[in-house]
Amino acid sequence: MNATAQLAAAVVPAAGRGERLGPGAPKALRELGGVPLLVHAVRALARSRAVGLVVVAAPADGVPEVVALLDSHGLDGKDVRVVAGGATRQESVRLGLAAIPADTAVVLVHDAARPLVPVEVVDAVAAAVRAGAEAVVPAVPLADTVKRVEPQPAGGPEPVLDTPDRASLRAVQTPQGFLRATLHEVHEKALAEEAGGGLPPVTDDAGLVERFGGRVVVVPGHEEAFKVTRPLDLVLAEAVLARRRASDGF
Ligand code: C5P
Repeated sequence: MNATAQLAAAVVPAAGRGERLGPGAPKALRELGGVPLLVHAVRALARSRAVGLVVVAAPADGVPEVVALLDSHGLDGKDVRVVAGGATRQESVRLGLAAIPADTAVVLVHDAARPLVPVEVVDAVAAAVRAGAEAVVPAVPLADTVKRVEPQPAGGPEPVLDTPDRASLRAVQTPQGFLRATLHEVHEKALAEEAGGGLPPVTDDAGLVERFGGRVVVVPGHEEAFKVTRPLDLVLAEAVLARRRASDGF
């Protein structure tokens, strides 16, 4: 194994349109503090000494634009590559994974939509995989009580089915960490299933590991690793960034 293979590689799915944020550029290219969300996310990974390579899955029609964007920002001298993403998050991750050398032991997958993840979370996830877990997710306890409902496609009040015990629930973040071989295997299995008209895509990579019987463990996440999904999330992210800049000239 060469020196680079001992470092983790990260895949950043960044090919989503981000329609819940409202009209405009693809979500990963929306700006936070004058810098695109994607650049923040890639920098957060590149700052980790555990990470040697970052592969970005860009919107298929926006690869040259994303290459130019990343070139124009300092990324701690890390190897950053861009590939065309797919129609679903799962496909974007699979295409990013294909660009990672097969002798890489540990792979992280991090949403472009989580621009402010602290480097300590990136380090902790990579370390937990190195320490022997095949799949690791950072997560935080829930503030809200959660109810399972019967969705009403035509609208109207939704009957409540039950209320899971909040103490056993976690809100899952990224980066999620995996043995590369495990992540590769579950993505290939999912692809084969899809071809047979199989199950719908999952919303996180650990979900695929679970689907095929693997063991996933949770480590502490961080409140600043939240996902920018709706307009209010951008307001919160601007405030977090301003606080960081004020406190440490970040
Ligand atoms: O839509 P959601 O917020 O769950 O997307 C999570 C991440 O997956 C985002 O970083 C988004 O850019 C990415 N994604 C992707 N390819 C898609 C859809 C979403 O890379 N086709």
